[in-house]
Amino acid sequence: MEVVLLLSLCITAVWASGSFSKGWNTGATTRQWSYNLDSPMGPAGWGNIAGFETCGNGTEQSPINIPTASAAYMTYPALNVMSSPSKASFHFHNNGAAADADPTGATAVNITGGPLGSEQYSIHNFHIHFGNSTFMSSEHSVDSSRTAGELHVVFFKSTYSTLGEALDSGDGDALAVISMLFNVGSDASSAHPGLETILRHFSNLTYPEDGVEQSIDFATLLRPSDLTSFYTYNGSLTTPGCNEQVVWMVMSQVQNVLPTSLNSLSGLRSTARMQTPVVPVFGNARPLQSLDNRMIYRNFQMTPSRSPPTIATSSASGPTVVSLVALFLSVLAIYANLL
Ligand SMILES: [Zn+2]
Repeated sequence: MEVVLLLSLCITAVWASGSFSKGWNTGATTRQWSYNLDSPMGPAGWGNIAGFETCGNGTEQSPINIPTASAAYMTYPALNVMSSPSKASFHFHNNGAAADADPTGATAVNITGGPLGSEQYSIHNFHIHFGNSTFMSSEHSVDSSRTAGELHVVFFKSTYSTLGEALDSGDGDALAVISMLFNVGSDASSAHPGLETILRHFSNLTYPEDGVEQSIDFATLLRPSDLTSFYTYNGSLTTPGCNEQVVWMVMSQVQNVLPTSLNSLSGLRSTARMQTPVVPVFGNARPLQSLDNRMIYRNFQMTPSRSPPTIATSSASGPTVVSLVALFLSVLAIYANLL
């Protein structure tokens, strides 16, 4: 039996008939898609599903590989995250395609700055695309390197009241997504506290629509120090309908989580309790899309560590040359004394 994921999910872009369809549903009228590369409903076939044509024929699709050498430097105002209350309440749940958290009650998290300028954006959700300690499943890659996972914090223009209304506007910058890449590392002192917290909240949500409400200090998830340097480009949602209305901001600093924390999500399933075969959520990444003629910008100067390795080589050879000269002079002195 083929396993099929239902729309909604992830960047939650499915805006069909004015409402989202969440979780599993076998209704014949519900459009369906999956991450199964071998399925006609998989990523290569999303564009063949009615209403999702942009996934197949779009020209500004996401995710992409970011070739750092071709990213153009640009100055932007600082990214600014405002959370009210500071301990914001979220509904953490397994939506069948991602570990997802939606704001509840009076929670309001807004951003300004960066390529968004003075325009304010309101949070819609945050969710993660993830693999495990040995399986890389970020969506974006940097210089063709993927990481173990990727956090997406999805916002829509605050001039609209919902994400759906923002998409319906047709604005090319209706949405903004902050992306944070992360890898696993066993050094607990370098583990990102905010990511560790949300992984813990997601870890027991085995079946689709399992959920729990938790309050998190949003300032620990998107710390000012995490947001200082980023790549930005115009792209799309990475799930159907792949709307090309997203300003992406991919943070350049790769964060760390503990292997045990990430691996604790391996039990999350895309399939319902009694459904077989069991399909895990991990590996929920859309394949890379073509950059085409788009520009990628960065708001930071390249660091010396990105310089060609010849500098390190020549510096490493310095002591060797000095040593040889010293040895030569010593031999000369000894020879002179002998004379
Ligand atoms: Zn996403």
